[in-house]
Amino acid sequence: MQKGKIGVTTENIFPIIKKFLYSDHEIFLRELVSNAVDATQKLKTLASVGDYKDELGDITIRISVDKKKKTITVSDYGLGMTAEELNKYLNEIAFSSANDFLDKYKEQSNAIIGHFGLGFYSSFMVSDRVEVITKSWQKDTPAVKWSCDGSPKYTIEEVERDRVGTDVILQLDKDSEDFLEESKIQDLLKKYCRFLPVEIAFGKEKEWKKDKYVDTDKDKIINNTQPAWTRKPADLKDEDYKSFYHELYPMADDPLFNIHLNVDYPFNLTGILYFPRIKNNIEIQKNKIQLYSNQVFVTDSVEGIVPEFLTLLHGVIDSPDIPLNVSRSYLQSDSNVKKISSHINKKVAERLHGIFKENREDFENKWDDLKLFIEYGIITEEKFYDRAVKFALFKNTDGKYFTFDEYKNIIKENQTDKNKTLIYLYATEKESQYSYIDKAKAKGYDVLLMDGELESHLINHLETKFKDSRFVRVDSDVIDKLIEKEEKIESKLDQEQQEIVKMLFSSQLKDRKSFIPVTEAMQETDSPVIITQSEFMRRMKDMSKLGGGMNLYGDMPDSFNLVINTNHAIIESMATDIQKGIGEAIKKQNESISSFDEEISKSEKAQEDKKEEEISQAEKDKLEALRKKKTKAEEKKKDIVAKYADKKPVVQQLIDLALLANNMLKGEKLSTFVKRSIELL
Ligand code: ADP
Ligand code: MG
Repeated sequence: MQKGKIGVTTENIFPIIKKFLYSDHEIFLRELVSNAVDATQKLKTLASVGDYKDELGDITIRISVDKKKKTITVSDYGLGMTAEELNKYLNEIAFSSANDFLDKYKEQSNAIIGHFGLGFYSSFMVSDRVEVITKSWQKDTPAVKWSCDGSPKYTIEEVERDRVGTDVILQLDKDSEDFLEESKIQDLLKKYCRFLPVEIAFGKEKEWKKDKYVDTDKDKIINNTQPAWTRKPADLKDEDYKSFYHELYPMADDPLFNIHLNVDYPFNLTGILYFPRIKNNIEIQKNKIQLYSNQVFVTDSVEGIVPEFLTLLHGVIDSPDIPLNVSRSYLQSDSNVKKISSHINKKVAERLHGIFKENREDFENKWDDLKLFIEYGIITEEKFYDRAVKFALFKNTDGKYFTFDEYKNIIKENQTDKNKTLIYLYATEKESQYSYIDKAKAKGYDVLLMDGELESHLINHLETKFKDSRFVRVDSDVIDKLIEKEEKIESKLDQEQQEIVKMLFSSQLKDRKSFIPVTEAMQETDSPVIITQSEFMRRMKDMSKLGGGMNLYGDMPDSFNLVINTNHAIIESMATDIQKGIGEAIKKQNESISSFDEEISKSEKAQEDKKEEEISQAEKDKLEALRKKKTKAEEKKKDIVAKYADKKPVVQQLIDLALLANNMLKGEKLSTFVKRSIELL
């Protein structure tokens, strides 16, 4: 028996390994199985070039668990190792690379995503002792057993073994005995090894006999050795892509479509990305893109590798060129990774454009499900925007789809305002904004439906992209002001009448403080009273709801305009009635208000030129008294109007009708309205 000492001075590297990668102990299995796969493929290569002349035979890799002995064994029929090779690979190279690895990443254990490079030695994270029994493919070399208890000391001795290949036997330590659970190993194999290129068996297929399941002698193969992404796109049908998708995400609906990535220059990358059909946001989180390196699962957090908006996609990316044993921040600044990211970005855009050109109808049918991804890309990824303008769609309230260019041409003529700004009208809800949409359409305008989750951001973004253009929600102003044209409508009411009408409505909005009455000269055929909410205000509030940091606005109460159409017959006759009913009384108040005004300005003038100390107390008191009197007269006037309004149910009725058109009249107020309507009839 040969004894030796691993050529590294640190006596206790294994405790460090154990501690260091505490949360990721499970990767030992990935490392051992991928070594077994490597060894098997190397032997296949040797056989194919004729260096290895024996039959390959069964080359299935087997994992087994012995609960009594507390061992896990990974067996392969790969190329094996000679005693010299064992020395070289396991004692010198593997050990020193494990050591290097630890040195390098001691500081950032949490930041590590892959742990390739730790390789074989990761088995000591879970073991008290590791044995390797191996027989090399080279003729006339004895089988050998290497044994190491976790200290740098090891032994090598000759043993008996028939076939070429390697068994790695782990004697699990106390803390790792849960790896003896078959279900645990099953899960780990499923996670890391399900697409490895050599068949891997764990346990036996079961069969129902009499009253229970019993093992057959058929191996249970846990992996698919030829996953779709490793095959040529030409060999795959739509069905193959779909079934692979369901293999990855058994619970998900059929995807919208897929993109098969296949690059060999300037880096190696294969993969399939799917646009999922999303039912809710939780699902986006759940099914993530999986990153593989030569079919070995590495991680499903691909941030930094694919463009952010594409992390919403599903599927697989496989690249041996992505550096795996490094921290995330390193990954994000790696130039290779950047190239990969921009390549994926480009491919995805090209594919979408392709589908759009090949079958626009199909693309339109899928648009509502698709738009989340594309809009996210447009907002966050400058380069993607440049490509997406060719296929991104607007949908209008009639359910028709347009490219950005097509839409611009359609609305250009009608929806350019007097300042040459092109106005994109939009609604966020078809039902509740129906009356506004209807009015806009009657005027020959087109209205977009912007009901997606990202569309308030999209609007802001497009306004920075589209020249001389603005997005305006249909209910943000009265129809003639949504898109201001040259012609101005004259108001039938003069300033004084408008003021009284506003007072009239204001007095009936006592318990609706968020509504501010304003007058507007609209068409006679427009509604007498409507409710609008300023585009600016609403956007600020929307943004703060989405966490845009504008909390100032978020805390403000909603505020609406109650717009009174001074050209509507009802409002006009209301003004005439007011004149008849309380005209005299108002006139009297106006007279005293203006006489107070006169006196106030007189004494203000007198005080103006004097210094503060030259003004006598009597003078100050007089001015103060005048102001009070004026305020009183104004209040009196308001009071007269309010008392009058209280007796005119039509005012409240008009307010309620406007509220009703906006779905804002509810509960008790709604039933009061109904009663009043009947009385008025
Ligand atoms: P890596 O796989 O990155 O080379 P490892 O630490 O996993 O690093 O393995 C070190 C070396 O040990 C391998 O390169 C290989 O030469 C040898 N080796 C490990 N496992 C086996 C095996 N099952 N069969 C043959 N050789 C193996
Ligand atoms: Mg390895």
